[in-house]
Amino acid sequence: MIVYNFCAGPAMLPKAVLKKAQAELLDWQGLGCSVMEISHRSKEFIAVYEQAIASIKKLMNIPDNYSVLFMHGGGRGQFSAVPLNLFTERAMANYFTTGSWSSSAVQEANKFGNAKEYNLTYLENGLTRVKPFIEWPINEHLDYVHYCPNETVDGIEIFEQPVFTPHSATRNHTIVADFSSTILSREINVADYDLIYAGAQKNIGPSGLSLVIVNNALLKRSQNHVPSIMNYSITAEKGSMFNTPPTYAIYLAKLVFDWLLEQGGIKAIEKKNIQKSALLYKTIDQSKFFSNSVHPNNRSRMNVPFTLKDPKLDDVFLTKATERGLVGLKGHRSVGGMRASIYNAMPLEGVQALVDFMKEFETSHSNSTF
Ligand code: PMP
Repeated sequence: MIVYNFCAGPAMLPKAVLKKAQAELLDWQGLGCSVMEISHRSKEFIAVYEQAIASIKKLMNIPDNYSVLFMHGGGRGQFSAVPLNLFTERAMANYFTTGSWSSSAVQEANKFGNAKEYNLTYLENGLTRVKPFIEWPINEHLDYVHYCPNETVDGIEIFEQPVFTPHSATRNHTIVADFSSTILSREINVADYDLIYAGAQKNIGPSGLSLVIVNNALLKRSQNHVPSIMNYSITAEKGSMFNTPPTYAIYLAKLVFDWLLEQGGIKAIEKKNIQKSALLYKTIDQSKFFSNSVHPNNRSRMNVPFTLKDPKLDDVFLTKATERGLVGLKGHRSVGGMRASIYNAMPLEGVQALVDFMKEFETSHSNSTF
């Protein structure tokens, strides 16, 4: 039976990547051992690291004045690293919240300074929407502003690019974004941000690793008191090797980046992501049995939460789905219901199998309780 894994993260990785890693596990590049058993300072590993950086730069069209860092501690590690590095003496930031992850980020930042929270969601005809950038309150004298373009739990995505572009006279704010669950899923203009970070376990590779893309001009803000392991300036200066980096995770990330390039890059994968998510949302919208409460403008292409009309059927739905090889559909514990995470590695066939199952389930259960 083919199994399709809809987990939110750690999440499905491309089969081709796992097969390559498997084939190379015991004897990598003829060295007679695994890549995870060799020194991070060996020329062989340095080559992996450099190729990984080159591939992501190419994929995301990262400008030359940005550094790409591999760090420890996943997404939450960055919830601390961002304020630790970017707060100046005034320690003021605006955090725009749209769901559970941006709310966690502001709580952490408040340990280190004054992070002001602005919730940007509102209901329109019962559907959750995010205010357009132009209405986001920006005070004077901020060290940075922070937002989360894709809320993994709530299935809320912001597709708009920040309006404060470097080309506009109004951009005098440092813009930080948590791209954990949407990085590499669609084209973005990196130069519209000063710092992008992402935990790896959705579209990059194994959990624990975090990717940071930072405008070099920001590096000088990292003061000596910032723990070295979280210090952007030290990490950049040491080529992400201040200490022993998560080498196997970096190797897998490199394989994922190469796989993406083979798929035609971000433009091509974005097209597939649009197709996959449209199929799933269409199925939900056409049904009287399933529903999603996010406004079409802000529906996530990566995480699709949905509920059954009768929550008493949730367990049966999950059991039957698992029997069909459709796993990881249980919604986040804080919101319940279902969630299908359909990251880059999920093929269209997986989404098709899910919607076929949903339609069958609806037909066989629509008279059960209501
Ligand atoms: N930000 C977002 C948007 C996430 O989805 C997650 C994890 N799902 C995190 C941050 C936290 O990542 P980690 O568990 O790697 O700390």
